[in-house]
Amino acid sequence: MGGGGCACGRVHESKVQSVRICEASCEEDLLSLLEGLHLEGDVLCVADEYTWEVQGKEVYQELRGHLGRSVRSFVFPGRKRLHPDEHAVGALTISAHSGVGMIVAVGSGTINDICRFVSFVLGIPYLVVATAPSMDGYASSVSPLLVNGKKQTFPAHVPFAVFASRRVLQEAPAELIRAGMGDMIGKRTALTDWRLSHRRKGEYYCPEVASLMEQAVDAALDSLRSGDGATGVDVTALMEGLVLSGLAMEYVGSSRPASGSEHHLVHYWEYRLLDAGVEPPFFHGSAVGVATLCIAHCYAFMSARLPDLVSDLGLVPPSPSEVHALLVSSGLKIRPAQLGIDGNLLHDSIRQASELRPHRYTILQMAREMDLIDDMADYVVSHLGG
Ligand SMILES: [Zn+2]
Ligand SMILES: [Zn+2]
Repeated sequence: MGGGGCACGRVHESKVQSVRICEASCEEDLLSLLEGLHLEGDVLCVADEYTWEVQGKEVYQELRGHLGRSVRSFVFPGRKRLHPDEHAVGALTISAHSGVGMIVAVGSGTINDICRFVSFVLGIPYLVVATAPSMDGYASSVSPLLVNGKKQTFPAHVPFAVFASRRVLQEAPAELIRAGMGDMIGKRTALTDWRLSHRRKGEYYCPEVASLMEQAVDAALDSLRSGDGATGVDVTALMEGLVLSGLAMEYVGSSRPASGSEHHLVHYWEYRLLDAGVEPPFFHGSAVGVATLCIAHCYAFMSARLPDLVSDLGLVPPSPSEVHALLVSSGLKIRPAQLGIDGNLLHDSIRQASELRPHRYTILQMAREMDLIDDMADYVVSHLGG
C-alpha cells in the first residue's frame, strides 16, 4: 500500500516514513536519519525515569556527542506510574515551547501519548524510540489524555519514524510484553465488528486494510511460537505486528480496524474505576485481552439466538475457546475479576459501553437493536462473572 488508489476507492497513505527494529542498538540508525534532515532548533529527548535508564540516556548521549546541534533532555521525575494528564502535558510544553525543533520520545504508551500531542500543538515533528512492545499506538495520530481524571482522545500527528532495539524490547517488563499480545488478540473481535457494521449498516470497509490487519495479528501470534525469554514471545515479530496495526489505522483515517467493542468495554471499565477514585489496576492490552473473551461470548450468544442472521452476514467471529487458549498461551489474565471488575460492573459494561461510542456499530449495538442486550449481559456474566 502507500501511493496509488485502492479497490475500496480510497488512497491509503502513511506519514510514517521509517520503521526500524534494530538488533542491538538503534542509536546509529537514528543518528544517520537525523543527520539527513534539515532541522531547525534543538532536539529534545523525552523519557521518564525508567525509560531514561533503559534507553533514553544512551540515545541522548549519542545524539549530543555526534549530531552537531544542540540536544537537550527532559525526564519526567518520579518512579510512580506517569499519567498523560494536564500536569505532564503542561510540564513538557513549558520545556519544549521555545527553541525546540524536534522531539525524540523514548518510551512506550504514556510517553508517546504526551509527546505526540505536545509536538502536534507546537507544530514540530517527533519520532519514537520504543522501549516495550506493549500497545499498537506507536504509529497513531491521536492522543488519549486524562482531563479532570477522564480519558479524552485528542487529534495529534503520527511520528515520522519509529525505532526500536530488539535487546531493549526483550528486556521490557514481562507484563508489558503480554499487554502487547492482549492488544493484538483484540483485533480479532475488532475486525469482526467492522465487517458486521459494513454488512448490516453499509459502513465503509477496506478488504486490503483488513487483510493487512490480519497479517499483523498473525505476526503477533506467530511471535508466541518463535520467541524466547521470560514470556516466550519473539519481541521483533510482536513489535512488527503492533506497528502494522497502527499503520492500518492511519490508512483508513480511524481506529476502526483495530478497535471495536472489546476496546469499548475496556474504556468503560477505566471510566467507571476512575470515576470511583480507583486507579485501573491493569495495562491497556491485558484488559483488552480479557474484554476480547467477553465479546467472543457475546458473538456466541448472538449466533445461538439468531443463527440465520449471523450466518447470512458471513461473519467468522473468534470462538470463546479459541480466545481463551490465546490468553492462556500468552500468560494473560482470563476473567474480569482478575482485573478488579466484578459481576455488576461487567453487566453494566455489556449494557452501556456502546454509549461511549454511539456511532461505532458493534455487536453491542446489534444486541441493543434486537432487544437482546440484557439477556446477552446475563449470558456473559454467567460465563465470566465469577
Ligand atoms: Zn482500501
Ligand atoms: Zn488497544
